[in-house]
Amino acid sequence: MPLVPMKQVLDEAERGGYGVGAFNVNNMEQLQAIMRAAQEADSPVIVQASRGALRYTNLVYLRQLMQAAVEDNPEIKIVMHLDHGNDLEVVQQAIDLGFTSVMIDGSLEPDGKTPRGFESNVEITRRAVEIAHPYGVTVEGELGTLGGIEEHVQASRVILTDPEEAVQFVQQTGVDALAVAIGTSHGAYKFQVTPTLAIDRVEKIHALAPDVRLVMHGSSSVPQELIADINRYGGKMPNAMGVPVEAIQDGIRRGIRKINVDTDTRLAATATIRKIFHEDPSVFDPREYLGPARDAIYRVVKARMESFGSAGHNADYAPMTLEDAKRAYAR
Ligand SMILES: [Zn+2]
Repeated sequence: MPLVPMKQVLDEAERGGYGVGAFNVNNMEQLQAIMRAAQEADSPVIVQASRGALRYTNLVYLRQLMQAAVEDNPEIKIVMHLDHGNDLEVVQQAIDLGFTSVMIDGSLEPDGKTPRGFESNVEITRRAVEIAHPYGVTVEGELGTLGGIEEHVQASRVILTDPEEAVQFVQQTGVDALAVAIGTSHGAYKFQVTPTLAIDRVEKIHALAPDVRLVMHGSSSVPQELIADINRYGGKMPNAMGVPVEAIQDGIRRGIRKINVDTDTRLAATATIRKIFHEDPSVFDPREYLGPARDAIYRVVKARMESFGSAGHNADYAPMTLEDAKRAYAR
């Protein structure tokens, strides 16, 4: 089946009361791992690419990888989503590449650090909606800022999402999905101690704006066994810490429908490759370490699909096309 608009996948998740993982890709092994997990878990899946991924893959390769995923998994509902688009040009670029969903991150200025004012965020997000909806493409916005470091996303301070503002933001922009800041942060070093998230805000926003699908960024769990392996086999990642899966599940119970996971799959690959190099220094065929790294990514993704509750839900509904979504927006 062709790629599915993200709005449908998240609306179905809302109906079913589960969350859908959004996993970042930059290369073939990551995408194969994600698709194998979706197959085996019988789960819809959101595959997302950052601006860094667009550059890394030179666009052409990414487009063909997406096609390969679709061709190889005709029965799986796959969304292709732009993660943290920072201007309207990249939004258009993603749409032209065939993405079925885009994020415009208007929470920060183009420098990727300075929080942007509310009005300015509304303005750029509304324009992204005007560009994307005529194609049937879903739009995710962001209100409030996350801490931490992601590619080009480095907020200098954390501003939690205000529920009343969120309602206005959704009304004024027409976004389909909204990334909320509730105390999570990007990267592998999210917290010094076990975090308390402002999870009650999710419940409030969900109650006040029931038609927008809520998104949690910075939601890798940073499994300690992977950190231990990385450190044991020559890596250096002291005090890495993430969001416990239980905290995410609590968020899902209160209305989170999309959960971004990037760091965890990176950690899985790195831990595996470090271990192989440590145990057998004679290895030099990339298949001998990229293959096991792919297996490790698959295991993390499948576990997340199970704990977020999307496993077993792939066949619940018939897929929408972008044409269907286009008509729905036009009404
Ligand atoms: Zn993010």
